[in-house]
Amino acid sequence: MTTTQRKIPPMCQHQPPCPTAESADRESARLVAHHPEQGWSLLCNGVLLFEDTGELLPDGQVIAPHRPLRVMTAA
Ligand SMILES: [Zn+2]
Repeated sequence: MTTTQRKIPPMCQHQPPCPTAESADRESARLVAHHPEQGWSLLCNGVLLFEDTGELLPDGQVIAPHRPLRVMTAA
């Protein structure tokens, strides 16, 4: 319990720390800013989460929207 290799984003003050932006469950970090009128939210791990579930990571990486599409498909 002395040192951990876990990277804690400076924005995240939560205990236990939220998932980092590199984590697969990064979306479960807490909202620090929510702007529904502009269609985005900022998570405490630095991830920008867009209304269409697309994401922009702190390192500039763009994650394509991945929400379950409820469109009719000719399956
Ligand atoms: Zn946090």
